[in-house]
Amino acid sequence: MRLVLVGPPGAGKGTQAEIIAERLGIPKISTGDIFRANVSGGTPLGLKAKEYMDAGNLVPDEVTNEMVADRLAEDDAKAGFLLDGYPRNTEQAKVLDRVLEAAGATLDLALELVASDDEVVRRLSGRRVSKSTGKVYHLEFDPPADPDSDDLYQRTDDQPETIKNRLKVYAEQTAPLVGYYEAQGKLVRIDAIGEVSEITERALNAIGAAE
Ligand code: ADP
Ligand code: ADP
Repeated sequence: MRLVLVGPPGAGKGTQAEIIAERLGIPKISTGDIFRANVSGGTPLGLKAKEYMDAGNLVPDEVTNEMVADRLAEDDAKAGFLLDGYPRNTEQAKVLDRVLEAAGATLDLALELVASDDEVVRRLSGRRVSKSTGKVYHLEFDPPADPDSDDLYQRTDDQPETIKNRLKVYAEQTAPLVGYYEAQGKLVRIDAIGEVSEITERALNAIGAAE
């Protein structure tokens, strides 16, 4: 299955992508994670992406599209994938369609996670990440054993001003994707409020129902 996840920052895309990809036996490809790994590794790609990420803006399409096309060409993505955080605007969606078409494949579905601004702000503000394992926690909703541990950090883009800009960027640039996939008959929408496990079940049902 070839799937993309769409939803505002903090909707729970990363959390669900991890579980759903494992359940479906396909790789999870998260552009945010790939960018962050490049930023911490100080690679040329990371240097290009950092200023955009820190400001909560999109990294330019030519950088992002090439990175994703390279990743999709790897063996493990040939039979299916779950893209988390890509595409993020209509131009990227068109490029993805072309890349897949050139490989003789098509996207099956776009799964939209719906959550209000108030809820995503709450989720982003309390998000903490483990340096050693990469696991994502939430101070209130999925608390780490020791919230004061040196192993935990807060993403630089999870600060109030940057969150505000990311929501604006989502509304202006990413939300139109929903219409793009709706017009292709590929959109499946689920309510992203509730327990993580409930949302996973909703997602799997929605995906199954559309198969
Ligand atoms: P979140 O999961 O909170 O929405 P991500 O980890 O997906 O955030 O993305 C973090 C940042 O990485 C974005 O704000 C953006 O700067 C950059 N980024 C990730 N994916 C893309 C993309 N498809 N196009 C452009 N920039 C991206
Ligand atoms: P995204 O990738 O869409 O930015 P994440 O999966 O990183 O979102 O989730 C954002 C924050 O919300 C994290 O701290 C995560 O632990 C928390 N979270 C994820 N799903 C839920 C949920 N169903 N209820 C409450 N908090 C959640």
